[in-house]
Amino acid sequence: MAMTHAARLLDWYDRHRRTLPWRAPRGATSAPYIVWLSEIMLQQTTVATVGDYFHRFVKRWPTVEALADAPLDQVLSAWAGLGYYARARNLHACARTVAAEHGGRFPDDEAPLRALPGVGPYTAAAIRAIAFDQPASAVDGNVERVIARLYAIETPLPDAKPEIQARAAKLVPEKRAGDYAQAMMDLGATVCTPKSPRCIICPLMEGCRARKLGIAEELPRRARKADKPTRRGLAFVLARKDGAILLRKRPAKGLLGGMDEVPSSPWREGKLSIAEALKHAPVPANWKVLEGGVRHTFTHFHLELAVARATATTARLARLSPGSAWVEIDRLTERALPTVMRKVIAHAVKS
Ligand code: SF4
Repeated sequence: MAMTHAARLLDWYDRHRRTLPWRAPRGATSAPYIVWLSEIMLQQTTVATVGDYFHRFVKRWPTVEALADAPLDQVLSAWAGLGYYARARNLHACARTVAAEHGGRFPDDEAPLRALPGVGPYTAAAIRAIAFDQPASAVDGNVERVIARLYAIETPLPDAKPEIQARAAKLVPEKRAGDYAQAMMDLGATVCTPKSPRCIICPLMEGCRARKLGIAEELPRRARKADKPTRRGLAFVLARKDGAILLRKRPAKGLLGGMDEVPSSPWREGKLSIAEALKHAPVPANWKVLEGGVRHTFTHFHLELAVARATATTARLARLSPGSAWVEIDRLTERALPTVMRKVIAHAVKS
């Protein structure tokens, strides 16, 4: 009898599965906490980047209750560098909800999982499949690509999503659903890659329509995205004589909420007026605007920051706003400093 799609894939998975820090050994199942933590970390971030963060989190907070008990500030600073900080806040809120409302155990049904902060349809399905071995269909970008190619779906994303979801759901086997979900992820990451898919070694090549039509690399098609706007501002790096740098805290809500930053002028579209921006300096000082600057891309806009540097003098420090703090340069890694602010400080230090 011909092997089914799932049987082919599982057979391939048994021989080629990736070893990942959060993945249980063959025949074992990862704890829901581990699956959830790794899936949240992996959103918009590569496996290579997540590895170290994952190890650090699990060592420091080995259970969901331990993470729930941690102060948000500590979680944000451990997360610093992974980006998309709303995920870290949701991570913490989710841990607290699981600890307070579910007795420290992740639910295994879709509805209560989806009710948890930061848990969307993909994460809920991944937890159900991988941690509870339920036949749930977890469709992330990798799986989307594999399915679009298997069925030669030419409708551009995001309009193709419902069809992809429906096709993917039909393929999920009743048995070994967790291994199947991970096999699809591995196939998308290592064989059915965005560029130059390795169809020749693919366990699904026989039934793959895009390969037969010679259009695998063109799929999935995507609707053209509107260009992101660029906002500009001037960041102020104020250093004490001993090298400590002035930081302030961002408002709790909104972009990079609750994170630390160096002060800056408002970030606005259009040309940056340095004279105007200097009016937002945290204290009057001999500000020197440095050559070059820092560029960073957020989900919805690019940010270009010019950087001004000054040395603090005691007389002017009385005017610092409340909530500001001096942080020694070798202790910056302990702070919840987003990547863009690390770039700004690095630029000021090396210029
Ligand atoms: Fe992807 Fe090629 Fe495999 Fe089709 S045959 S699923 S395009 S790697």
